[in-house]
Amino acid sequence: MNNLLLTPIEYLKGVGPNRGELLRKELGIHKYGDLINLYPNRYIDRTRYYKINELQNNAAEVQIIGKIINVKTVEFAKGRKRLVATFVDDTGQMELVWFQGHKWIRESLKINEVIVIFGKCTSFNGMYNMAHPEIELLSEHEQSLRSAMQAIYPSTETLSNRGISNRTINKMMQQLFLETQALFTETLPDYLIQQLQLIPKKAALFNIHFPKSAEALAKAQYRLKFEELFFIQLQLIMKNLIQKHKIKGHPFTIVGEFFNEFYQNHLPFELTGAQKRVIKEIRADMGSNAQMNRLLQGDVGSGKTIVAFMSMLLAIDNGFQACLMAPTEILANQHFIGLSELANKLNINIKILTGSSKTASRKLIHEELENGTLQILIGTHALLEDKVKFKNLGLAVIDEQHRFGVEQRSKLWKKNTIPPHVLVMTATPIPRTLAMSLYGDLDISVIDELPPGRKPIQTVHRFDSNRLKVWKFIRDEIAIGRQIYIVYPLIQESEKMDFKDLMDGYESISRDFPLPQYSISILHGKMKPADKDAEMKRFSEGKTNIMVATTVIEVGVNVPNASVMIIESAERFGLSQLHQLRGRVGRGADQSYCILMTSHKLSSDSKTRMETMVSTNDGFEIAEVDLKLRGPGNLMGTQQSGVLNLQIADIVRDRDILALAREHAQKILSADAPLQKPEHATLRAVYIELTKKKNIWNYIS
Ligand code: ADP
Ligand code: MG
Repeated sequence: MNNLLLTPIEYLKGVGPNRGELLRKELGIHKYGDLINLYPNRYIDRTRYYKINELQNNAAEVQIIGKIINVKTVEFAKGRKRLVATFVDDTGQMELVWFQGHKWIRESLKINEVIVIFGKCTSFNGMYNMAHPEIELLSEHEQSLRSAMQAIYPSTETLSNRGISNRTINKMMQQLFLETQALFTETLPDYLIQQLQLIPKKAALFNIHFPKSAEALAKAQYRLKFEELFFIQLQLIMKNLIQKHKIKGHPFTIVGEFFNEFYQNHLPFELTGAQKRVIKEIRADMGSNAQMNRLLQGDVGSGKTIVAFMSMLLAIDNGFQACLMAPTEILANQHFIGLSELANKLNINIKILTGSSKTASRKLIHEELENGTLQILIGTHALLEDKVKFKNLGLAVIDEQHRFGVEQRSKLWKKNTIPPHVLVMTATPIPRTLAMSLYGDLDISVIDELPPGRKPIQTVHRFDSNRLKVWKFIRDEIAIGRQIYIVYPLIQESEKMDFKDLMDGYESISRDFPLPQYSISILHGKMKPADKDAEMKRFSEGKTNIMVATTVIEVGVNVPNASVMIIESAERFGLSQLHQLRGRVGRGADQSYCILMTSHKLSSDSKTRMETMVSTNDGFEIAEVDLKLRGPGNLMGTQQSGVLNLQIADIVRDRDILALAREHAQKILSADAPLQKPEHATLRAVYIELTKKKNIWNYIS
């Protein structure tokens, strides 16, 4: 049977060399098997027949029974002609129009025979017309293998211009089922099909092309989506298993002086349960003979840094060096200041290398790296320069991974024959469902618990008309010594207007909160760096009460005494941005608040965004909603997801199926990784077929 599916498409009756060539070029259909896997984009209800007097000018697709009574060629512009046929039924008449392929269409049109036409109807000068309709004799129409739900296939302009209509593809599909007698082989193990109550492959293929009912279609779609996601997961997990065997890593066998000394005497706080769990996971990974490739996810403030530091201590305990790479100088500096404090207690040699490092200190760093006396190096992209050579890099930590390409990641470890363990940290909450399809080759650890004592930020949504009450609230908070952020959107496309809004806002706030009782800072991207620093300093030293700003404050600002975040025109921000902005408060011991200000007119998506922000502080939950609203391609930091080129499944809508598919792929491989059990013979065959195509490598990186 499988052999039959390898038959070149031109051999299918009704295709031939010309159409075969077109199908190859336009839809990538080379063989029978490719055609069977051309799944419809959508379906149309073809149980209903319209009368001409029922038509509406809404460009809906309709089918009508009637006759063509005449055909003529009309010149509508100099030298440009169209073919027009008059079509009638017992309620009226309309026109059928062709702009291309006149000759053979004209020849194929039958006058005064009962036909069924199908296409989009529009009205022009009081006359209904249908352009490039599908036409079928009523007698054929009644016989054809047709289902209530008519499949509409992907097409291209060239295809429809060259006479390969949806109808043609439909016919080819029927022919294919006839010739092959639909003897399609099963691809999933029987026990799985039974356990999950899936329909057999054969039935699924039939019903995806010729569904007898909406219910049959749903079952077919479910089965094929599951299968698609299942085989992707199977390959990803298998790849991970193979990698673990193949890529040797440095086994960190010792938990030594540095780690223990730090853990017993210098830990600045009690670790959270999540931090402990993640450190254990990392220790187990680095203790094995395989290279660690781990993604560490944790919301802003969840305490990833200490986990990274303790992992570095393990590297040093085992006689290796460690490095931490951050996306910006500011972040690298922050890490250096924080980690130096800890490292100094243990007499660890730690240094920082960025683009602005002076030549002398660079030289020293290069030397110490090569002779092995430098134990921890913090830095930016500068770490990737050729001159930076580690004596024995054992662990590379990468902060905020989405800003580094995969290529850059691997550049770090190309320097060593045995690659270092890699820990990638990200605060961008990538939903698990997405992460596991994108990074199926990375192991994932999640810090899903915030350090104790943090009070959850209270978030409310207020309309502009309630501003007076909000202002009263601000006054009360300032009266008890708190500070306030008021953030305006500044979005590139409408920069001028936004800037005006910001300035207008600043003026009216200055009026409502006048000197000398109140003082206000302002911060925006057009200011000189020195002025920005000065304003920021005034606010962080508590000299001003209110900071009016654009989203420039989104990254790296830390003022624990600021307890209220007001976001103006909140409907214009995306969810992840709102969440990042809110993360600027709630850093001290006081109760913090976030107030989302919007106008009354909100789209339903905006409403969902506001409701989500009000109902949860959980970055992962927010990311899940964001994913649903925007689709994976737009989710911040996951642009790579565009590579996921799925045929039928949709990782946003079909997340539950994805989770199920992953669960079962994992179960199967942990019981039978080589897929050698008799019940997995089918799986093995499909798997080998897939790896031959190598298409899975396109799914990742
Ligand atoms: P992020 O995950 O955003 O990088 P950090 O590692 O910068 O978070 O930690 C945020 C703050 O929380 C830091 O001031 C850190 O010292 C503190 N912190 C981290 N873990 C704990 C903990 N277990 N208990 C108390 N404070 C902690
Ligand atoms: Mg951090």
